[in-house]
Amino acid sequence: MATNISASASSTTNLLSQRLLSFPPSQFYKNILTKPYQQQCLLITSSNKKNRAAMVVNSSRKLINLDQHYLDDDKPKEECGVVGIYGDPEASRLCYLALHALQHRGQEGAGMVTVENKAIKSITGIGLVSDVFNELKLDQLPGDMAIGHVRYSTAAGSSSMLKNVQPFVASSKFGSFGVAHNGNFVNYQLLRAELEGKGSIFSTTSDTEVVLHLMAKSKARIFALRVLEACEKLQGAYSMVFVTEDGKLVAVRDPFGFRPLVMGRRKNGAIVFASETCALDMVEATYEREVHPGEMVLVDDTSNEPQSMYLLKPHPPEPKSCIFEHIYFAQPNSIVFGKSVYESRHAFGEILATESPVEGCDVVIAVPDSGVVAALGYAAKTGVPYQQGLIRSHYVGRTFIEPSQKIRDFGVKLKLSPVRAVLEGKKVVVVDDSIVRGTTSSKIVRMLKEAGAKEVHMRIASPPIIASCYYGIDTPCTEELISNRMNVEEIRKFIGADSLAFLPTDSFRKLLGSDHTNFCYACFSGKYPLYPSVDMEESIDDTRKSTYNLLKIVGPGIPRSF
Ligand code: SF4
Repeated sequence: MATNISASASSTTNLLSQRLLSFPPSQFYKNILTKPYQQQCLLITSSNKKNRAAMVVNSSRKLINLDQHYLDDDKPKEECGVVGIYGDPEASRLCYLALHALQHRGQEGAGMVTVENKAIKSITGIGLVSDVFNELKLDQLPGDMAIGHVRYSTAAGSSSMLKNVQPFVASSKFGSFGVAHNGNFVNYQLLRAELEGKGSIFSTTSDTEVVLHLMAKSKARIFALRVLEACEKLQGAYSMVFVTEDGKLVAVRDPFGFRPLVMGRRKNGAIVFASETCALDMVEATYEREVHPGEMVLVDDTSNEPQSMYLLKPHPPEPKSCIFEHIYFAQPNSIVFGKSVYESRHAFGEILATESPVEGCDVVIAVPDSGVVAALGYAAKTGVPYQQGLIRSHYVGRTFIEPSQKIRDFGVKLKLSPVRAVLEGKKVVVVDDSIVRGTTSSKIVRMLKEAGAKEVHMRIASPPIIASCYYGIDTPCTEELISNRMNVEEIRKFIGADSLAFLPTDSFRKLLGSDHTNFCYACFSGKYPLYPSVDMEESIDDTRKSTYNLLKIVGPGIPRSF
């Protein structure tokens, strides 16, 4: 079975009219945004730039995304997790379990491709892994090899979203293959324009589709060489797994190694690739090592052991792994870039306790879940008890009963509830992993004080975020990042805390030791290891800014972000 790569121009027009007809996208959106504002949104976005259609589509995409902002934390969003299984008769079931372990990396869609008797089978869908797959579907995915994907998406509308759910499958003169990708190509716009100029027709808005076209154009007869040729043209972040109809599995990571990818082995010899080791644990595979930056690993029946080769173009390996995986994205039980995420976060908390102690504090609490381990580190270092001052609801879904009238801090209250018994009359240290827009932090501080906290001292287990990410993480536009606009004291006042401190960048680097040069810190420094092409930067920034503008014009009384 193969994906058709077809119809771009007309589908853009259809998509546009479809978006406009379906505007506004949700009942909730109608409730908070009155008609004049809805019209204003359209005017702003459609008259904004040279590419009117794209802007309107972008705007609509983001309008739908408002629902998501409403429910999600004020945090950057991970974009995807990948899995590859080779040599196990239960491949699809193992892949399902591994995807489940990676669900925190993307909840918008999931998919799987398996191979049996030179036939590729694929199932993709929107929603959680458990929404997309059931026993019946897994029965339709036979074979001893599989690749899988969980997707976080900024794209909208279910029809276009489904098309963008991976793995993608394509046919070429050399046979069919599937690919699943975590990351973001910073030269995607250039490559796509070049490929379209030569007659390629795209059917999705995903950057991953350029890989299929680059490989389809390659004349190399050996699959691994076609992957290498494609990778030589790609710039940016990619951890990818491929599967072919003739039984090869390939895992490859970009020369900077922005996004993680690990390899493990089951007792029966089956090889497992995954974004994080928590997925290996889930399928009882032993962690062997990372797929190194710039490395391509091939597994097939020509060798007992995986074969490895390295990319030398566009440049040799030069590790710049995403430090944010250790701060927020990865699960604490994972080993990422060779280090325990739990140990990193604990150490971040200890550093905060040493560098920014709070005299006479009574209790240390966390913003759950991502602040918990750093809070434990802070408490351990100071000797002040850690308690559960905020309880997180794990049952907030994408559908909920809308409030009949506006409730203050409704979005945060859906997810977090304060524990009065822990907080009342106390001098509280609250530890969070990061501050992005600052809006959620201010609601948390208010919530803690309303629950009786005498003082609230906020400690952040990362340096201030001052720049957007172009390597596969969905951060707001730079203007929206509070640390880009305000200094620490201004942020403290904005969020209403009694004191505020961030993890100092220098201590942070000291902790990583000689390894510190192997990490990307661009969102804290604005110094990017690799700049996106101008088109790409504009496109990403426009999309982010259209959300920002939209949130701004919603007007006073309505939170600017949710
Ligand atoms: S810019 Fe930030 S989020 Fe993006 S890869 Fe670098 S460290 Fe990670």
